Amino acid sequence: MAEVTEDAFREEVVAFLDANATPRGEEKFVWGEGSDQVALFDEKSRDAELRQLEEAKAWRAKRWDAGLAWIFGPPELGGRGLPASYDRLYSTLESRYEIPTQSFFGIGLGMVAPTILAHATDEVKQKYLPAMYRGDLVGCQLFSEPGAGSDLASLQTRALRDGDEWLISGQKVWTSGAQYSDIGEVICRTDPDQPKHKGLTGFVVDMHAPGVEVRPLRQMTGGASFNEVFFSDVRVPDDHRLGDVNQGWTVALTTLMNERAAIGAGGAGGSGMVSTTRLTELLNHYGSASDPVLRQELMDLHVHLTVARLTNQRALDKIKAGQAPGPELTTAKLALTQNMTRAAEFVAHVLGPRLAADTGEWGTYSWNQFVLGTPGMRIAGGSDEVLRNIISERVLGLPKDPGIDSKTAFRDLKVGTQGS
Ligand SMILES: Cc1cc2nc3c(=O)[nH]c(=O)nc-3n(C[C@H](O)[C@H](O)[C@H](O)COP(=O)(O)OP(=O)(O)OC[C@H]3O[C@@H](n4cnc5c(N)ncnc54)[C@H](O)[C@@H]3O)c2cc1C
Repeated sequence: MAEVTEDAFREEVVAFLDANATPRGEEKFVWGEGSDQVALFDEKSRDAELRQLEEAKAWRAKRWDAGLAWIFGPPELGGRGLPASYDRLYSTLESRYEIPTQSFFGIGLGMVAPTILAHATDEVKQKYLPAMYRGDLVGCQLFSEPGAGSDLASLQTRALRDGDEWLISGQKVWTSGAQYSDIGEVICRTDPDQPKHKGLTGFVVDMHAPGVEVRPLRQMTGGASFNEVFFSDVRVPDDHRLGDVNQGWTVALTTLMNERAAIGAGGAGGSGMVSTTRLTELLNHYGSASDPVLRQELMDLHVHLTVARLTNQRALDKIKAGQAPGPELTTAKLALTQNMTRAAEFVAHVLGPRLAADTGEWGTYSWNQFVLGTPGMRIAGGSDEVLRNIISERVLGLPKDPGIDSKTAFRDLKVGTQGS
């Protein structure tokens, strides 16, 4: 394939965007004007969700037809074969245009697809990856269970070999987007006689297969973005296995590393989600701009957002220069959620009771969607505490968390009713 310079690529992308989307006007925040929505989780009806999903898919299909849907993907799978920096350039350019929300693809393309690329058979890669990047198939992540979250290796969903197939039975929980997903990456226990990290295997499962049941869970913000998923003897062909039998922990780590990097880097340490202009206007509107404590809180947030943004930028620049990213990306997700929590606390201090009672006043009660959404962000993709453990062990070199038993057979561990 002929080499495409960054300048030529930029021109190509701008021509595509100009032809297919409307440029965003200059966004200037004016108190009382426009939407006052600041929700972190989608709070839409099922009908609206399906409508937006169709629009999102149509946009990805357009990108695919223009050769811009999988910019860094291998050409033999329909990708463009360009460096990842070209993909980031595309995202920067696209963010200047009005396009349908692409949040439906975050988990499938950010986490499941890279895992399929790294661990699946060639047939499965061919079958799913082009369709995922074209937007025809949406993927979800089926890891957590009622007894396995931070301690994911305690999961109990079983996969039993049956000739050329596997039979999956068990329950997953908190599965974001399962309600509109076509495929899922599921991690199952395949050998309870091995220590807990060693008897796991990953699979790609068809979410429309007989025996898969998706039940919505309502979160405290009102919407239902995630689900319980029940598997009752769901048949999965052996060629849909990810990696070797009992090597599922490595597969799960591929997904988790992509998850943390995607959440952390995507949020730019919070500066992409929290607008200090908006918060300053909030302070001005309520005549609190001279309150020394609130001023201090706002400046503290501003400093932390700036540090996080620059740290992320440093990590991205290192990758661009061909160096391995250092601890910057490990801290990115933690910085993001800490900054969101700072912002939520600041807003609560400024708004007080206006946050809890809806008076219809613009830009007040709507903030409760943000404030109630931040705890979820602190848990998803590795809780703050677990990320601190990782930083202390892998970055600072402190001793390992003593709670992990990596020697005893899973069947003999005292967690729930495993091994049956
Ligand atoms: C918005 C959202 C979306 C999600 N989407 C998905 C999804 O799509 N797919 C999926 O599989 N899962 C998903 N999850 C689940 C998520 O991965 C788990 O909630 C998370 O791993 C934590 O597990 P848990 O809820 O069981 O809490 P627990 O692991 O039981 O943790 C409870 C508390 O104990 C603390 N804790 C646990 N272990 C330690 C330790 N070793 N040291 C110190 N403190 C510790 C935690 O920090 C937490 O405060 C989602 C969760 C959220 C909130």
